[in-house]
Amino acid sequence: MIKTNSYAAHSPGEALKPWPLERRDPEPNDIVIEIVYCGICHSDIHTVRGEWGEQNWPFVAGHEIIGRVIATGDKASLHKVGDMVGVGCMVDSCRTCAPCEVRMEQFCENGFNGTYSGIEKPTGRPTYGGYSGVIVVHEDFVLRLPEGLDPAGAAPLLCAGITTYSPLRRWNVGPGMKIGIVGLGGLGHVALKIAKAMGAHVTFFTTSPEKVEDAKALGAHEVVISTDPAAMEAAAYTLDFVLDTVSAPHDLDPYLETLRIDGTMCLVGMPEAPHPSPDPGSLILKRRSLAGSITGGLTETQEMLDFCAEHGIAADYEMVAMDEVNEAYEKLLAGQVKYRFVIDMATMPAL
Ligand SMILES: [Zn+2]
Ligand SMILES: [Zn+2]
Repeated sequence: MIKTNSYAAHSPGEALKPWPLERRDPEPNDIVIEIVYCGICHSDIHTVRGEWGEQNWPFVAGHEIIGRVIATGDKASLHKVGDMVGVGCMVDSCRTCAPCEVRMEQFCENGFNGTYSGIEKPTGRPTYGGYSGVIVVHEDFVLRLPEGLDPAGAAPLLCAGITTYSPLRRWNVGPGMKIGIVGLGGLGHVALKIAKAMGAHVTFFTTSPEKVEDAKALGAHEVVISTDPAAMEAAAYTLDFVLDTVSAPHDLDPYLETLRIDGTMCLVGMPEAPHPSPDPGSLILKRRSLAGSITGGLTETQEMLDFCAEHGIAADYEMVAMDEVNEAYEKLLAGQVKYRFVIDMATMPAL
């Protein structure tokens, strides 16, 4: 076993604190990664607080992992010692179902194996996430960090980046398209950068007048305050696609009304309680579609990282030390971060 340290919750909602952790010895195709940075995703907080079901306690969150390869199994060939690599939301899947065969592991019919909240195949133990010094992952689920991408700013791309890139690709966002992005947070700000790099004209929707300047500074072509009925009226029937990144329950109809005929609105924020049901008339009268999307497969995630490197895209982040994680959770919940916290794992206490 490989001994390392972690920051764990010992029961739902309890503050995270140091917890010595053992990782499996590398199997033939495994990669042993010393974690350098780990982003803090809203999903981490939901899971730590027991809001997304029962967990194995102690519980270690973190699925936006960037690190350095320090050892490999005998048969591993995709990554070598010294390489900078990434691990996102998944560490394994069944490999044999139809979605897995086309590398859409996020839709694995047997359920993908989460970087946390999963069961490790070789050992039958729970999977533990990236708030730790070391992680051991099958090489097929390890991503290459392209040259030129800031490693800390790349960490959030492994969840927030791919979660927005995948639907933008799926709906062929590109030059000549007018799209909308709802919500200026970890996901929304990355979605804006990616959609712009794809060549689309981007309208940002926010409920907060104080975020208008922030959205413009990030490069939004237009910003609409969604609580202003006149501004929403002016935006009606103007967009080809809307990406809604907000996870708080909210009324979808005002955003559906901004779509042209045949437009699609895609949800990527998982709400704690259902959104109010959309008005069927809104869909029927303009043949609109309402869709959803979850993360992306490994091939597409690598494509996203390469795309971001090519276009100079990384997340905007605030670096925190490991012992600041509990405080960072409170700030994130209060919306006081621009736009992602990233943990500097060099600050992990020694064992
Ligand atoms: Zn996440
Ligand atoms: Zn599968």
